[in-house]
Amino acid sequence: MSLPIKVRLTVWYLTLLAVILTAFGAFLFLRLKSDLINAVDQILGSRAAQISLGYQGSDQNFQDVGDASLRNLPPGETAAQTLSATGTVLDATGDPALADQPMIGVQEVATALQGRRIVASVTLGSDNEPFRVLALRLPGPGGSSVLVVASSLEDVDSSVHRLLVLFATGIPVALLLASLGGWLIARKALRPVARMTAEAQQIRADRLGDRIAIPATADELQRLAKTLNDMLGRLQEAVESQRRFVADASHDLRTPLTVMGSEIDVGLESPRLGAREARALLASNREEVERMARMVNNLLVLASIDDGQLELLPVPTELRALAHEVVEGLRGFVSTTGVQISTSGHAVSVIADPGRLKQVLTNLVENAMKYAGTGAQVRISTWHRDSEAGFTVSDTGPGIPAEAVPHLFERFFRVDAARSSARQGSGLGLAICNDIIDAHGGRIWVESTEGDGSSFSVALPTS
Ligand code: ADP
Repeated sequence: MSLPIKVRLTVWYLTLLAVILTAFGAFLFLRLKSDLINAVDQILGSRAAQISLGYQGSDQNFQDVGDASLRNLPPGETAAQTLSATGTVLDATGDPALADQPMIGVQEVATALQGRRIVASVTLGSDNEPFRVLALRLPGPGGSSVLVVASSLEDVDSSVHRLLVLFATGIPVALLLASLGGWLIARKALRPVARMTAEAQQIRADRLGDRIAIPATADELQRLAKTLNDMLGRLQEAVESQRRFVADASHDLRTPLTVMGSEIDVGLESPRLGAREARALLASNREEVERMARMVNNLLVLASIDDGQLELLPVPTELRALAHEVVEGLRGFVSTTGVQISTSGHAVSVIADPGRLKQVLTNLVENAMKYAGTGAQVRISTWHRDSEAGFTVSDTGPGIPAEAVPHLFERFFRVDAARSSARQGSGLGLAICNDIIDAHGGRIWVESTEGDGSSFSVALPTS
């Protein structure tokens, strides 16, 4: 069973308090009792010494000396007696109810006769009342006897009992008040949590801009609210990116579809469509289909990266041949953009997934052609350096602002200045390239000067 946190806090607090109060009470109780008994012992000791001195040193009889000494004992029943070595009462004074019977046993008498002082709590009289007795050897003219002095412990017991009653009633009342106070404090302390919970429950996917009010307490709850708000911020960003992505991807896919649709319409409406025109139309349509296929491929890669299922089929792959293949594949695109494209470098081999690598190179070359614009030059060079081999795609385009470079490989990042209807994109191409190269254990980077072209390089380990 899981109880509300304020109930649990109160229970913990109460249990702890009960243990502390009980331990403290028990300590006080024992301490008081032993202090009071010690006080009685001290008085009994000095009275016994007085009696033994007076009794031996004068011709007074035991009763006179005993009475005089006992008079000053604390109120309550007191008595003194001398016992023979066999434990019989020789002489007695004080409370007559106690005088007849020896106040200690034969065993104790024997021990006292050996010179050891005996101090003990006993019960005496017909009512079995508690007493403290002190016994010591009393050397006398008629041989050794034992002096026993006793004082009732009734006062001690009643003081201790009063304290016990005080604890027995005071501790539960204190616990009751403490539990009420503890519960109120816990409720007050947790009220912001209840408010935050209610506010968080109101936030839905369509209201991710809402935030939890931050308590002005500068404590853990304030940190919790800030953390929740930060998390909401990240979620909002992710959801907005996804929405933007869906919108951009749909737009990107609609553009080639529109082009294809209108070209087909023109063809259908043309009364005499010759073989040459039909070929040109099909070639153009094919180019649009390829563009869409590349886009869909990018989307699929992204989905498998997100699922953690990007599968690579690494085989020996020759990069210069791959560059030629990519250029060949983009020939249609090249002819419409008026970009000059060239390749250079030696044949270099790496172990990589040729399909994925082609996708990376295609993205880079497409970007170069897309952003460099009409008349620009794009060059793909392959290279081999130390334990790495790779390719570099350079263009003579507008370059990339220095402040944008660190973000270029982030998902959905686009340089605003480069954004125009003719350069639609989703800001995912370079992020995908980065993920693919990362999965190969390679590196991808850019060198660019604004206004002076860009160079994107990919390096893969050769050993
Ligand atoms: P997309 O091309 O779909 O916008 P990318 O991830 O491929 O997304 O590129 C991210 C951004 O980097 C682009 O929006 C563009 O601003 C910039 N960029 C990429 N390649 C080049 C380039 N060769 N020249 C200038 N800017 C580029």
